[in-house]
Amino acid sequence: MSLYRKRLKIVRGEGVYVWDSEGKRYMDLIAGIGVAVLGHNHPEWAEELSSQLKKLTVAGPMFNHEEKEEMLEELSKFVNFEYVYMGNSGTEAVEAALKFARLYTGRKEIIAMVNAFHGRTMGALSATWKPKYKKDFEPLVPGFRHIPFNDVEAAKEAITRETAAVIVEPIQGESGVIPAKEEFLKTLRDLTEDVGALLIVDEVQTGLRTGKFLAIEHYKIEPDIVTLGKGIGNGVPVSLTLTNFDVERGKHGSTFGGNPLACKAVAVTLRILRREKLIERAEKKFIKIEASDVVMTRGKGLMIGVVLRKPVGRYVEELQRRGYLVHTSGQRVIRMLPPLIISEEQMREVKSAIEGVINDISGRES
Ligand SMILES: *Cc1c(COP(=O)(O)O)cnc(C)c1O
Repeated sequence: MSLYRKRLKIVRGEGVYVWDSEGKRYMDLIAGIGVAVLGHNHPEWAEELSSQLKKLTVAGPMFNHEEKEEMLEELSKFVNFEYVYMGNSGTEAVEAALKFARLYTGRKEIIAMVNAFHGRTMGALSATWKPKYKKDFEPLVPGFRHIPFNDVEAAKEAITRETAAVIVEPIQGESGVIPAKEEFLKTLRDLTEDVGALLIVDEVQTGLRTGKFLAIEHYKIEPDIVTLGKGIGNGVPVSLTLTNFDVERGKHGSTFGGNPLACKAVAVTLRILRREKLIERAEKKFIKIEASDVVMTRGKGLMIGVVLRKPVGRYVEELQRRGYLVHTSGQRVIRMLPPLIISEEQMREVKSAIEGVINDISGRES
């Protein structure tokens, strides 16, 4: 929605900054909704991707190529899964996860969370919560049900031998940067294991930016399937579905999935993140906003939600006027998914900019 925000025309980016068509500079704390993890126009990334364009961009999913090997090698330095399915967007990673879960268990029922967001294709949309996103597209895929997030008793009641999988975000992104409680995730892990169901952790938004490669690592829980997207290729459309079981060839597939350009993008992004320790360093970059009308700051590392007592529209607009681009979740949460290259000092600047805007607007009113 852009009711309250004048739609900017972005023409250029460099590092944590973008410029609009009038030459005005903004610090970009949205970064394509958590995509530009290395910032805009990262020189090494851009150079490697340009060379790749001149070398090989298509091979077809039936072939192997160096770039795929390079990507798997880089990925294995961060996570320990046996199989990777590659798609082109977060929603496709979720579709694959849901299909794999039904295939593997032979069961149909998928349990998702109230307030979840998993994407907008029919399967992922069925797992998504928000009625507004769904109602015009019904009937959706049968077999989905939603339980309240962080409700251990509801999970105990819902998970049975009929359950194929439970899908959960470690921190709910779209609905307001709401972290899962440790006890809740542990319950989901234990119960799914007991009944032979799978635990799918959707890390499309949380991946890379909470201080660990996967946010679920903070909880010391091992999921059966993980989905990654958004920042994993730093802007080349690519997503991953990680599993420990193989899926019979021909049961699922994609024309573009795993193309050399996408593989290269993931490989280079991960290599730079690892070399610069940008994932670990994200944890300390969290900022807590302290101002009147702020109920709390939620999230971890560089996934930050500022919950306000009032609708956030005016604050977001004023921040934009002062040169800071922030995103929202719903009516009352300012959301930030900054590039991981942002410095602690820049995050301190963001903190005072936001606190300044909130205090100025609230002060004017009282
Ligand atoms: C953004 C998001 C998706 C969907 O990704 P797309 O690339 O927009 O299809 C799925 N799950 C989560 C948790 C997300 O944040």
